[in-house]
Amino acid sequence: MITSDILLRIIENMVNTIKENKDYLTELDAKIGDSDHGINMDKGFSAVLEKLPSLKEKDCGTILKTVAMVLISKVGGASGPLYGTVFLKGAAVVQDKMEINEEDAVAIFDEAIKGVKMRGKAEKGDKTMLDALIPAYEDFKDSIENGEDIVKASYNAQKAAYEGVEYTKEIIAKKGRASYLGERSIGHQDPGATSSYLLLKTIWKTLDE
Ligand code: ADP
Ligand code: MG
Ligand code: MG
Repeated sequence: MITSDILLRIIENMVNTIKENKDYLTELDAKIGDSDHGINMDKGFSAVLEKLPSLKEKDCGTILKTVAMVLISKVGGASGPLYGTVFLKGAAVVQDKMEINEEDAVAIFDEAIKGVKMRGKAEKGDKTMLDALIPAYEDFKDSIENGEDIVKASYNAQKAAYEGVEYTKEIIAKKGRASYLGERSIGHQDPGATSSYLLLKTIWKTLDE
């Protein structure tokens, strides 16, 4: 069970994770994009941090929706609207709820991925954030269905996301700026898949505290 308090802590930790990895994510984007992924993400999450005090005692839907709106409005790159979609789709699942149960968490994850696919017109194997998110979702869902608790399920999810990031090194980018490189994108890991993995790891770490 993730209460709205824990959700706020997760988001605060996400802000810190992105800040700590700002240069790393930007360096990855320098290889196959336009060297701004860390900058974009940090700009968005720093703006989220400013909103956090106003979200105390609010329901999980309002919290997730606020994060979504900030990311959509503050991040210029492709990743802003896509991560915004993740949080916006998640918000709709837990509208007015003060906590997120295991079933809700699976539904949030599912809706978020559907939203990213629709918005970005990408699929698994296109070398995008979906290559981290989809395997993570599948392991998370399986774990919950097999009766694992949410901490173990989120551990399994971030582990699958890590493997997804590794896999992006082997494939050709089909979407976003990296797709302009074609075969030359092989050998480089996708920045967005990497940020997705880092955010999922942050969820696990926070729940494990
Ligand atoms: P930009 O490419 O506009 O500079 P960012 O550098 O912030 O934006 O984000 C790039 C990341 O966004 C990529 O590494 C990839 O994971 C993700 N991305 C780009 N296009 C798509 C898409 N159509 N669907 C899903 N993810 C995408
Ligand atoms: Mg970029
Ligand atoms: Mg850019």
